[in-house]
Amino acid sequence: MTTYAVLCIPGHGHVNPTLAVAQELVARGERVFYYVGEEFRPVVEATGATFRLYESDAWRKYLPLLAQQLTDKGSIIDTASLGKRIGMMATLVIESIRELPALMAQMATDQVDCILYDSTFMQALFVSDALHVPAVKLFATFAMSDQVLKRMYGKEREVDRSFVKEFFGTLDEKLAYQCELYGVPVHTIQEVLSNMEQLNIVFLPRGFQPAGETFDDKFGFVGPALPVQRYYGGDFPLDRLDQRPLLYISLGTAYNNRLDFYRLCFEAFGGTEWQVVLAYGSRIDPADLKEPPANFLIAPHVPQLEILSRADLFISHGGMNSTMESLSFGVPLVVVPQMWEQEMNGHRVQELGLGLVQERDSVTAESLQAAVEQVAHDAEMRSHLQSMQDEILLAGGYQRAADAIMQHIHARA
Ligand code: UDP
Repeated sequence: MTTYAVLCIPGHGHVNPTLAVAQELVARGERVFYYVGEEFRPVVEATGATFRLYESDAWRKYLPLLAQQLTDKGSIIDTASLGKRIGMMATLVIESIRELPALMAQMATDQVDCILYDSTFMQALFVSDALHVPAVKLFATFAMSDQVLKRMYGKEREVDRSFVKEFFGTLDEKLAYQCELYGVPVHTIQEVLSNMEQLNIVFLPRGFQPAGETFDDKFGFVGPALPVQRYYGGDFPLDRLDQRPLLYISLGTAYNNRLDFYRLCFEAFGGTEWQVVLAYGSRIDPADLKEPPANFLIAPHVPQLEILSRADLFISHGGMNSTMESLSFGVPLVVVPQMWEQEMNGHRVQELGLGLVQERDSVTAESLQAAVEQVAHDAEMRSHLQSMQDEILLAGGYQRAADAIMQHIHARA
């Protein structure tokens, strides 16, 4: 029996794809400790894994700033904003070092043999090195490389390397100082940001990953790891869904504070033949939304997999989980991205003929209606959706992820 620690940042989009993997490992007789914030305790415990509270002041301080920066258009290719983002990520790593001794002490008590970490839990590199345990990196979004950026933007990312080098120099000194102070092995910022493991699990099928063929066999493209049944703590009235065509609208759990957009949806689809489910998230006061049209069912949080299993079309922000979940059920998308990662996902959806993109800043009730009409009646799109759905099924999901992880650990042993 192997004992795993799952390390994840406190975001639904990052936690969700790991849950079915944790559950599968537990079902196969392995021990799993899941380190994450308090709000995820019920979903973690529902998998059979043991919940371990991990809270980070560094995340509390820097994740909102980073999230804000990621809503800037072009933040991936523009040198200045890329530099700012790298700086912020590096500062987050430096600040988090002081939190590692307590985490490592708990992991040593738990006798952890293997770490499974979300790609954004960058501190995991120090932890696996210090504890001398192997680690597997989990990607809830695209795996990144220069080839991927080149494929997506048609040219090498134009980063002023000298500026970055100079910038890294000062940050590396600060990081080394913190590492020595808190007794963890020293790594450079560059090593932290570009670190890949001997096994990396990507929760999308290879065909959806841009430049997918350029990744070697250290990368397992297992597709979305959807559980048979996902824990849901709310009371959405699924029994009110009827025979009308179902349109599902959600901007996910992070970049969803868009009262204007939800009102625009009321205007676009109120009084139409669609039955509409709209999930408006936890940042909006429903009183501000006013009375929804009669053909709408609205809620802060809905059981998304159940809704998608019945939906005909999904208007989504294009978070990778939402995108994969939609494609798993063969549901076409109209993507209205709210930040750069979602822009990339949306463009990939459009490029592969699985849906259309509407720009966050220029979308109107009319343009959204037109996009929905076009997608709803596109026969060619149906065949692309069928192929992608087949590829997702073949990718193997959580079972293939668990196979790959267990084989990797046994091969090392
Ligand atoms: N989700 C859900 N109910 C909701 C909204 C979202 O269950 O009302 C889930 C959804 O199924 C997905 C995750 O939350 O697994 C959102 O992740 P995604 O990557 O799509 O976007 P993010 O929230 O990270 O922006």
